[in-house]
Amino acid sequence: MSINLLDFDAKGLTGFCAEIGEKPFRARQLLRWIHRAGEADFDAMSDLAKGLREKLSAAAVIEPPKVISDHTAPDGTRKWLLSVGAGNGIETVYIPEKSRGTLCISSQVGCALACAFCSTGRQGFNRNLTVAEIIGQLWWANKALTETFTSEAGRERPVTNIVMMGMGEPLTNFENVVTSLDLMLDDNAYGLSRRRVTVSTSGIIPAMDRLRERCPVALAVSLHAPNDALRDQLVPINRKYPIRELLAACERYLQSAPRDFITFEYVMLDGVNDSMAQAHELVQLVRDIPCKFNLIPFNPFPDSGFRRSSANAVSRFRDVLMEAGLVTTVRKTRGDDIAAACGQLAGKVLDKTRRVHRSIAEAAG
Ligand code: SAH
Ligand code: SF4
Repeated sequence: MSINLLDFDAKGLTGFCAEIGEKPFRARQLLRWIHRAGEADFDAMSDLAKGLREKLSAAAVIEPPKVISDHTAPDGTRKWLLSVGAGNGIETVYIPEKSRGTLCISSQVGCALACAFCSTGRQGFNRNLTVAEIIGQLWWANKALTETFTSEAGRERPVTNIVMMGMGEPLTNFENVVTSLDLMLDDNAYGLSRRRVTVSTSGIIPAMDRLRERCPVALAVSLHAPNDALRDQLVPINRKYPIRELLAACERYLQSAPRDFITFEYVMLDGVNDSMAQAHELVQLVRDIPCKFNLIPFNPFPDSGFRRSSANAVSRFRDVLMEAGLVTTVRKTRGDDIAAACGQLAGKVLDKTRRVHRSIAEAAG
């Protein structure tokens, strides 16, 4: 199997260049061609000598995951389904807004953490995505969006923000996620600001500490409950990393974080975690932590056993947090018609799996 250059950040590419007897500046040239220009063909890399291009073609490939489908909802939300082999598909979603364009990226096929309300969790864990498969999502989106993007949108480039809120738990695929983050931040690659790249975690405490040391980016923590008894049920990893320890890890993270607050995500489940009493309990719980809340109306899927909280319950809950001085946003459910609301991917597991199999079969002829 050839080496896939999409698996390397700057350091990895420099090592690769050394191995084939090339100087470190070649790594910078390659980074720019691959990630800035979205080029996958060595022969198109015009400032590389022919001999070098031949050497590269013999030693390596630039191979992103294949696009199986590409849908745009009426509100502009765009979703790609990418094949990562063996009938597995992963989803990437682009959410355009006036002043920013956010790409929601997946980090694993399935997820081992089995949160009760999450359809990715219901699928179980299949495998970690490689760096090429993680960064390949941004590579594709950037390429596809640049073709139609005009800077009239008030910004220079289509993707300004990344959220690792697709399928999987990013902090249990630590090395590949950090290498991908390096590329997102690298000026020779995507050049995004640390403040605009967000890792979302269900609270893998040791990995939060490592992330803080290795690559501090903005952090979102999936809280979903105001106490351990309920969180143990909704987010089973809480039994290993309970709330008090999680909040202490958030405080440590803030010492090196590019933003001075943690975003807490809170999925709104009817009759489970959306009462006024629970809102007050939540206010008490986080009172010592600089934070913002993002309330996510539950995205239902077949046999989930949960219902979405009513709009009234969501706004009453939000009001309690706001009155206590906590900045709180309610996530808009966007792109619902293509099951692409970010953080709520894989809405229809069985259907989707069948569809992926069918389209892979069709693509294979
Ligand atoms: N594994 C990471 C990141 C991916 S999930 C995490 O758990 O944080 C991104 C967000 O979507 C998380 O806050 C997750 O709890 C939430 N989520 C999962 N399933 C959902 C559903 N069916 N409806 C609404 N939000 C959901
Ligand atoms: Fe995994 Fe996040 Fe889903 Fe929990 S909510 S099962 S951690 S993807």
